[in-house]
Amino acid sequence: MPRFIIAISIALAGVMLQALAQPKGFTPEQVDMITAGRSDQPMRVFKINNQADSILLRTQSLDITADPNDEILRLLIDRMYTTVRDSASLGAGIAAPQVGILKNVIWVQRFDKENFPFEAYINPKIIQYSEMKWPCREGCLSIPDRSDTTKTRAYAILVEYDRPDGSHGIEMIEEFTAVVFQHEIDHLNGILYLDHIKQEAAEAEAVINAGTAHNAPSDSELILEARAQSNAAYRGQDVDAIAKSYGRDIIITGGDGSQLSGGKIIKKLLSGLFEKNPGLYYVRTTSTLKVSEVADRAWEQGSWREVPGTRGGDYSAHWIKEDGQWKLLSQIFVTLH
Ligand SMILES: [Zn+2]
Repeated sequence: MPRFIIAISIALAGVMLQALAQPKGFTPEQVDMITAGRSDQPMRVFKINNQADSILLRTQSLDITADPNDEILRLLIDRMYTTVRDSASLGAGIAAPQVGILKNVIWVQRFDKENFPFEAYINPKIIQYSEMKWPCREGCLSIPDRSDTTKTRAYAILVEYDRPDGSHGIEMIEEFTAVVFQHEIDHLNGILYLDHIKQEAAEAEAVINAGTAHNAPSDSELILEARAQSNAAYRGQDVDAIAKSYGRDIIITGGDGSQLSGGKIIKKLLSGLFEKNPGLYYVRTTSTLKVSEVADRAWEQGSWREVPGTRGGDYSAHWIKEDGQWKLLSQIFVTLH
């Protein structure tokens, strides 16, 4: 190839890359679809059992400028909300391609916030995934009449996004809300949750072929499940459920350095705390989990935070297996901020 053609090709490629990177507005067809109804009218949900819909659902969406004065964008956001809240298709989140618009816009129900508000995000990107997984039952407005458990979702993610008011945000999201974000952002990349199931099925087959099939949950899965149940129990201020993870001789060092021992005493203290502070709870997020190779013990490390509020810090936990169940032998919390 002559040198000048190569130079032109490179220049063109550069222009094309730039064109791809620059958020463009809506196409006339998209404007027609969005403005075909009022903000309180749901849009048609695209489904995989329709071939044309299915092709669109498999297509990459594009960024859009988070311009608060863009009336078409505002109407799209409003109509997507109406769609996800519509009784015919009630869900925990929705992505713009599900209503036929290939733009990076999603709604997510924030189960990690008080009263579980729905929030809209523009151009969301996951910039970090925890290694730890979070098994979760998922359904999808675009995949009618089924739900399945995925096991490849990250427990925590770092997400960067624009908000409809044009502001920019970055935050760490955990647990079920993190799965909703992963599910909706997948849609923007043309990925459906069933793809993860297929990936799991392929991996499981590989394990069986290798002669090491294991169906029973691993010790680390059981401990993470116990931690998740404890977090849920805190959220509901359910002292008895919280105490289910306590071993017979539990010892806790509180964030302020106070020493507590014995399930009964800790339960009494928690009851008093919750009575004085309705709505208060703690979230513990695992960052490291090591199961002993020589004994029924495990070491967990992570961070904790108080809700509502900004107080938090790190913790360390010693788990032991008692009567076949993973229980807490001791926990040390340190208030760091
Ligand atoms: Zn979906």
